[in-house]
Parts: sequence; structure tokens; C-alpha cells
Amino acid sequence: PPATRIGIVGYGNLGRGVEAAIAKNPDMAIAGIFTRRDPAQLKPLGASVPVHGMDSLLRHKGAIDVLALCGGSKDDLPWQSPELAAHFNLVDSFDTHARIPGHFAAVDAAAQAGQTTALISAGWDPGLFSINRVMGEALLPDGATYTFWGKGLSQGHSDAVRRVPGVAGGVQYTIPVPEAVDKVRSGVRPDLSTREKHRRECFVVLQDGADADAVRRAIVGMPHYFDQYDTTVQFISAEELARDHGAMPHGGFVIRSGNTSAPSKQVIEYRLQLDSNPEFTASVLVAYARAVHRMHAAGQFGCKTVLDVAPALLSAKSAAELREQFL
Ligand code: NDP
Repeated sequence: PPATRIGIVGYGNLGRGVEAAIAKNPDMAIAGIFTRRDPAQLKPLGASVPVHGMDSLLRHKGAIDVLALCGGSKDDLPWQSPELAAHFNLVDSFDTHARIPGHFAAVDAAAQAGQTTALISAGWDPGLFSINRVMGEALLPDGATYTFWGKGLSQGHSDAVRRVPGVAGGVQYTIPVPEAVDKVRSGVRPDLSTREKHRRECFVVLQDGADADAVRRAIVGMPHYFDQYDTTVQFISAEELARDHGAMPHGGFVIRSGNTSAPSKQVIEYRLQLDSNPEFTASVLVAYARAVHRMHAAGQFGCKTVLDVAPALLSAKSAAELREQFL
């Protein structure tokens, strides 16, 4: 069968990750990169990959099977996904959990009208972690589900640190508290407060003349972001920030523990340890783009999420091959 042709919309961290992921999947091909910036200024990883302005996207419709939307969840996807779902099959990684029902409704209306297939909120959380939370509860109804994140770089919390007066640069890592993880893994189903589950670690570069103590207090007391956590703030140089904190590691685990009878404890754990959050998220998007292409060919139109997709649809292998190798 011919390759599934992917159009990459937005070329930031995730967009570059999608380009890299397609290179690892021989049944997928890049139709082009589409950007709101000047296409001549973008340097794709692959020298021969065409870069176009967003205004030309509709003209390439016949050459694209699925769009991989790589814009930000805050400002881009809320309007890009519904607008583009009217014309294209697509996947996005919308990750504002509380707004997913509204995003689904908007994308579904557009995709139903346009007879396209649009899968939202693919990635790892939401995404693979969501599947594991659903499975855990379905398999062990008498139980409790726990999600731990990290050790990982949090984009939102790093942005919050950088907005504090006196801060020239910085990053924030979210770290699961080992005692809490051990307790959950033992199957005793503990009640854990926010503070007991995660701690936060900040590495901060001060502006010249800034008061370190005032900066530390402003960070650890910041409502919602830090005040409910044990937070440490370490001051470093701009060189150290660039040298030691340029990567975007992340990960975490979803644990379901439950009882099938009073003495029988059952524990399920799903774990991710990621050197690059955007590159991994992009790999997930590409696998779901394959599924979207197949679901569209089967006439399954409208908005979908990872919870609607059978695992076999993600694989490049045939159903017979999968039965032989993995069952
Ligand atoms: P970026 O900020 O790197 O990119 C977002 C958009 O900004 C790009 O699509 C691009 O659009 C524009 N952009 C990128 N670089 C520049 C620049 N130098 N100047 C101007 N504009 C630029 O975000 P990420 O790729 O890191 O993340 C995208 C989203 O992925 C996040 O908002 C997050 O919600 C989601 N995500 C989801 C996960 C999940 O598990 N579900 C996990 C990780 C991320 P354009 O080319 O059109 O200018």
C-alpha cells in the first residue's frame, strides 16, 4: 500500500519530533511542513522536506492523508483543530485536561460536517496514561488509581518561574516522592495529599543585582504552582543553565491497585522514562495518524480520542502478523 502522507502543521519542538518519527516509520511520508512564520526562515531536519505557508494548506489537500497538528494547547489548537477538521483528517495533542470535553465538541461538529476523522489529545498524558487509567479501573473496579509525573521538566512551571521579577532564566523539574511511590506499589491504597506525592525543584539564574531571598520566597509561595508543594530553589549561572538543563526529559507512571478478594491485592503499573518529551509525544502522534487514516477509510468520521482506537490500528503490521507475533 502507498505510504500515509502526513502534513506537519507548526514547526516547534513537537513538529520537529514528528518529522523525526516519520523517518522511523517506512509506511509514513512527509507531505510538507506548514507554518505561520516565513517558510524561507525554517530549517527542517531533512534538507528536501518542503516548507509552506499556512495560507497554502488547502491547495495541498489532495496530497495529504492526515495532518499532525503541532501547535500549542493554550493558544493554537483550540481554534486550529476545529478549523482544519472541516477539511482534513488530523491528530492533535491537546493537553489542557479540563478543556478536553469542549475541544471534543468543537472538533466533532467540524469533522462530522466535513466527513473527516480527527483524533484529539494523543500523546502520553493525556494519551497513553489515559488508556492505562481506564484499563486499570475496568479490570480492578475495587481499587484506586495513582498517576505520578517525573522526573521531568514542566514547561508551564518553568514559564511561571521565569516570570518572577529578578529571574533571568530557569527551569522546573517535577519529582515523585519515593516514599509515596513505594506505598502505592505495595498495594495498601494510601490517601496522599498533593505535597506527599510530588516535590518541585527549580534551577534559577538571577538578574544582576536581584535579591536571591526575595526570588526564592516569590517562587515557593506562588499560589497553585508551588504553594502546595515542597519546593527547592537552587541558583546557578547562565552557563550552567545552558549546559545542564537544555534537554526536555519527562515521564512518570500510572499505578492501579485493587482487590479481587479481601486477601488478594493486584497491582498494575505502566511506566515511561523519556529523554525527550516532545520526541516521544510526536512518536505517539504518528502512530495515531496511521490509525486515523485507516478509520477514515473505514468511514468512521467525527472526533475520536485514544480511548476509541483498537491497538491493532496503531501498528504497521497486519492483523495476522500481530496475532502470530504478539498473542
Ligand atoms: P512550541 O512552543 O515549540 O511550538 C508551538 C508552536 O509555536 C509551533 O507549532 C510553531 O508554529 C510556533 N513556534 C515554534 N517555535 C517558534 C519560534 N521560534 N518563533 C515563533 N513561533 C514558534 O511547543 P511544543 O512543540 O513544545 O509543544 C506543543 C504542544 O504539545 C504543547 O502546547 C502541549 O500542549 C503539547 N504536548 C502534549 C503532550 C501530551 O502528552 N499530550 C506532551 C507534550 C506536549 P508555527 O510554525 O506555525 O509558527
